[in-house]
Amino acid sequence: MDLPYRGRFAPSPTGDLHLGSLLSAVASYLQARKNKGQWLIRIEDIDPPREVAGSAAGIIRDLKSLGMTADEDISYQRQHTATYLQAVTSLLSAGKAFRCACSRKQLKDSPVYPGTCRKLGLDAAAIRLRVDNRQMTVPDNLQKTREYSLNDDIGDFILWRADKLPAYQLAVVVDDAAEGITEAVRGCDLLDSTPRQIYLQECLGLAHPEYLHIPLLTDNSGRKLSKRDRDDPLNQLQPVAAIRLALQLLGQQPPAEIIDLDTLWNWAIGHWELKNIPLRLDNEYIT
Ligand code: GLU
Repeated sequence: MDLPYRGRFAPSPTGDLHLGSLLSAVASYLQARKNKGQWLIRIEDIDPPREVAGSAAGIIRDLKSLGMTADEDISYQRQHTATYLQAVTSLLSAGKAFRCACSRKQLKDSPVYPGTCRKLGLDAAAIRLRVDNRQMTVPDNLQKTREYSLNDDIGDFILWRADKLPAYQLAVVVDDAAEGITEAVRGCDLLDSTPRQIYLQECLGLAHPEYLHIPLLTDNSGRKLSKRDRDDPLNQLQPVAAIRLALQLLGQQPPAEIIDLDTLWNWAIGHWELKNIPLRLDNEYIT
């Protein structure tokens, strides 16, 4: 029997909820509701240098006012550091990870880690995962299947940072497994993280969730909308209008006569069609 569906929205608290991240929130929420599953919120607050004070609370408040509440307590990655440390320690003991003393400057001309510290047995703070020399096929529930060479496209990647903080790839894999996530719905900016996460799950003996990447919203010049865009249309919209806009961008067509939030969500859950999500998110709906 299939596992019961469990999805999540996992924002980093580096700014306000913006239209781009709202699309991930709405798509993950609707996938969970459509599949009669659970939807969780995880605040990925493992990067204090990039964190913006008040952002986590603001994102949670905005999601709530937009009609999205989690089915379980919200989880905060900073409370899971001991678990991440345990995972990385087990990889070190198994010889699957190694300590690395390379500086950013030393690596600036190497898009893929050249393996410098692989066999040196150093006593450094940063820890990398040793990747195998093989191909990996990465399926996706929306995008086309992608092929990667672990050695040539990915390389040994960081699990623990030189500033002694756990890296995103490690934290997300440990939490997706601990929270029993069956499908991760997120933006296409994380497409190339997926082979890293699948490989890391293999190394840690964890189950693989499925992945679904939604296209990124770009502005008129093709640039990804970021949290720093002060002209984010979300700021000017009432909840119903914001959810309507998100649905339209995701290729769904809510009837114009729906004017209240509960009715709009009920319609969206009943009519959610993955196949209508366009391959490029056009901002024709943004006025
Ligand atoms: N925290 C990541 C972000 O805000 C998302 C991680 C994920 O969905 O896997 O971009």
